[in-house]
Amino acid sequence: NYTQTVGVPKVPKVQWSDIGGLEDVKREIINTINLPLKHSKLLQSTLLKRSGILLYGPPGTGKTLIAKAVATECNLCFLSVKGPELLNMYVGQSEQNVREVFEKARQASPCIVFFDELDSLAPNRGMSGDSGGVMDRVVSQLLSEMDGLNENGTIFVIGATNRPDLIDPALLRPGRFDKLLYVGPCTDNPSKVAVVKALTRKFKLSEKVNLQNIVNTCPDNVTGADFYGICSNAWMTAACRLIKKIEKGSIEKVDELTHDSVVVTLKDFE
Ligand code: ATP
Repeated sequence: NYTQTVGVPKVPKVQWSDIGGLEDVKREIINTINLPLKHSKLLQSTLLKRSGILLYGPPGTGKTLIAKAVATECNLCFLSVKGPELLNMYVGQSEQNVREVFEKARQASPCIVFFDELDSLAPNRGMSGDSGGVMDRVVSQLLSEMDGLNENGTIFVIGATNRPDLIDPALLRPGRFDKLLYVGPCTDNPSKVAVVKALTRKFKLSEKVNLQNIVNTCPDNVTGADFYGICSNAWMTAACRLIKKIEKGSIEKVDELTHDSVVVTLKDFE
């Protein structure tokens, strides 16, 4: 049953400060969502169609994180759906699932619907290999739901994909997913530092830790998810060292280890 597999929409807890870099994408996305939210009457009177946003780029670059942060920032519920989850072998069920997603969003509005792996849900019709079958009807359903959103100004649709080239072009027309924003890996040092800073902002770092030194050893085109791996390893190494010291009795036993007891050093990042 689909209704049981998709979570309840709620306002997420991801904040802008959890995201390093990606300043242009953040600015664009907030403008696209905030303007119609704050001035819904103004836009209604111009008959302008509201845009859906398509975030595209390699895995682990922060697409989901950004979509959640904008929901937090604008105090919107967030309904996350992975494309393949909606596909079902029973006749008519996949389209029904798409309808249910939008129904749920309407009930929870103001709301952001986030379609992860959109390419799997809306592949180029005729190229999906199901010869005019399920996928065509799913794409049609998605198109009709998105076109209907105009009347209700409080549902925003964000899609994410690693393969925008596979998406049905009808979905990329004006009024649908017509704002394409590239979310890429970190290519320059300042953005790498910004990501590590965001990921370590709740760490207790030893004074000698210089974030610049950490990123200097990283290859080019490293993603936020790569940095997440590096930073969480560093924290775990520091935590294990502390636990060992306590077990050996070389430092005083504390009643309860808190996050603040763990001091992360530069060596932990190696
Ligand atoms: P996928 O295409 O695989 O769904 P994605 O682009 O949606 O990937 P996210 O799920 O947003 O990637 O990112 C994965 C994790 O990487 C995040 O939970 C976060 O810990 C970290 N991360 C990615 N980008 C950033 C960033 N710019 N700043 C801080 N952390 C980041």
